[in-house]
Amino acid sequence: MVQVCVAFGSNLGDSQSTVHQAIKDVGALASTQLRKASSLYVSAPYQATGGQFVNAVAIYNTQLPALALLEALQDLERIAGRVRLYPNAPRTLDLDIIFYGDVVMDTLRLTLPHPRWQERAFVLKPLAEICPELVGQPSLEKVSNQEIYRL
Ligand code: AMP
Repeated sequence: MVQVCVAFGSNLGDSQSTVHQAIKDVGALASTQLRKASSLYVSAPYQATGGQFVNAVAIYNTQLPALALLEALQDLERIAGRVRLYPNAPRTLDLDIIFYGDVVMDTLRLTLPHPRWQERAFVLKPLAEICPELVGQPSLEKVSNQEIYRL
């Protein structure tokens, strides 16, 4: 059983219900259980375009291998209707694996831990809410210029 952290983002359609549903859907994947989910947050687009994002993070236990988990998350993105018009285009659902246990890997398809999570208030803030031991105050201060609030 591996503990994984998944980040959720949406800035198209009914983002709040999309993110709520996606948190449940990941927990319903084979051999996967939801442990903790953050509140929903609203953030200004950062390294992305379009309107405000709804974000959250959640911790799961899973027996899925990392690539199988990534594929399952990408299926959920497709089901939620994500159309990739251009890189970083608005998206109905974006799912990232922030960490997968303590696995470190860098391949074309999957980089673990996620290479940019420490730069993103929309990951750090919700993660600090549910796993404060993983996010220090200095990390939060580095992203304090990014607009984000808890719903
Ligand atoms: P994005 O447009 O942000 O959803 O990026 C998706 C692409 O990033 C996919 O092609 C994935 O294969 C790749 N990727 C690499 N590392 C990760 C990760 N830790 N979590 C999610 N996607 C990843």
